[in-house]
Amino acid sequence: MSKLKNKVAIVTGASKGIGASIAKYFAAEGAKVVVNYASSKEGADSVVKAITDNGGTAIAVQGDVSKQSDVTRLFQETKNAFGTLDILVNNAGIYQYAPIEEFSEEFFHSQFNINVLGSLFSIQEALKSFGEKGGNIINISSGASNTPLPTGSVYSATKAALDAITISLSKEFSGRNIRINSILPGVVETEGSRSGGFIGSDFETKLVATTPLGRTGQPEDIAKAAVFLASDDAAWITGEKISVSGGIYGI
Ligand code: NAP
Repeated sequence: MSKLKNKVAIVTGASKGIGASIAKYFAAEGAKVVVNYASSKEGADSVVKAITDNGGTAIAVQGDVSKQSDVTRLFQETKNAFGTLDILVNNAGIYQYAPIEEFSEEFFHSQFNINVLGSLFSIQEALKSFGEKGGNIINISSGASNTPLPTGSVYSATKAALDAITISLSKEFSGRNIRINSILPGVVETEGSRSGGFIGSDFETKLVATTPLGRTGQPEDIAKAAVFLASDDAAWITGEKISVSGGIYGI
């Protein structure tokens, strides 16, 4: 289990949910992991503890990805701790569903500033840390990018924007040994999807009924795909949108 041996990875939004699972799976494969969080210090510390208890290496670093100065500090602290960077996972994200009548500037900016602007700030800083050797970027998008649902126009737009960034940058990075891909999860059982009312709802029941693999996703379903994309097993894959959704969002 050493697909990411000696690699240094930042996972944004890793205090819970999908990000926490990616951090743990990366560490189990030998990566030194920076567990970023916005407000849940306790959550981030418990992810770090789980990793170190298992013999891995990790630190927790606070930083709101929608604030450029926080992102700069996050990458500086990573450099101070581990000297370099090989992998960035842009996982930090929020999802808010509401009818267009309830749309507001705040509703727009809260989602776009974290999901899109935060990812761009992080990618910009990652490039400096990757240096000449190159690196690997994974954007955690959503099935809502390819398959937008009612009341999800703004959230879906953030993830479609993120996927456009993936494809554009994969070409812009030509010749620089930097791969960048999107993972598009279906509904995954996390703290966020529980508190958002998706888990246990009629919506979830209907979704599972039409999902070929017949269940809601778990964070580790996404983490395993992230390990694959971060590793040399995916050495010839860049600019792709990969659905991990039990088949419901398959092409
Ligand atoms: P979650 O359980 O709500 O966890 C969100 C994580 O993001 C937390 O660690 C949170 O940190 C962090 N975060 C939020 N705002 C941040 C900010 N401004 N700066 C830094 N970190 C921030 O979410 P999740 O369900 O695991 O979702 C993770 C990603 O997967 C998101 O991008 C989401 O859009 C995507 N996704 C999720 C699903 C799903 O069904 N769960 C499906 C498709 C795509 P704090 O705890 O410190 O606030």
